[in-house]
Amino acid sequence: MIQFQCPKCGQQFTLPQPANQVTCPICGEKFNVATTIPPQPQQPPKYGPQQPPQYGPQQPQYGQPQYAYGPAQPGVFDPGPSGKSRGVAGLLAILIGGLGVHYFYLGHTAAGFLSILLSFITCGIWPLVMLIQGVIMLTMDQASFEQKYVYTQSALPLF
Ligand SMILES: [Zn+2]
Repeated sequence: MIQFQCPKCGQQFTLPQPANQVTCPICGEKFNVATTIPPQPQQPPKYGPQQPPQYGPQQPQYGQPQYAYGPAQPGVFDPGPSGKSRGVAGLLAILIGGLGVHYFYLGHTAAGFLSILLSFITCGIWPLVMLIQGVIMLTMDQASFEQKYVYTQSALPLF
């Protein structure tokens, strides 16, 4: 049984078998089945091919807003616009901050060497300072981090 809806009177009725032309039993309107039935069988195939392409471009778009919205949450280790990751810099500062490696990583070569020197002079206090700095780096947002530690003009950017 195939169900039709008359385009003229709107009545629904059924036919026992497929036909190219149907005559409405209520109002006598003759209409082409091809124009009325297809919406049902055709819609699923239409949606099928359309959805994957729609989802395709959308998924990358979901990723980008996350970068834009939350440097705080998703991407501690994601490099920011400067190409530097506050996660990497912060960890380097925490683990081996006394060696100034995070300063070398951030492009502050002089501060890196100064850091090594200060570790000797301060007898181990400096690495603790760097450890605190690393924690601060990890907790601050990417924009502040880059402003304070990457693009800074300071020879020895601290807190
Ligand atoms: Zn009709």
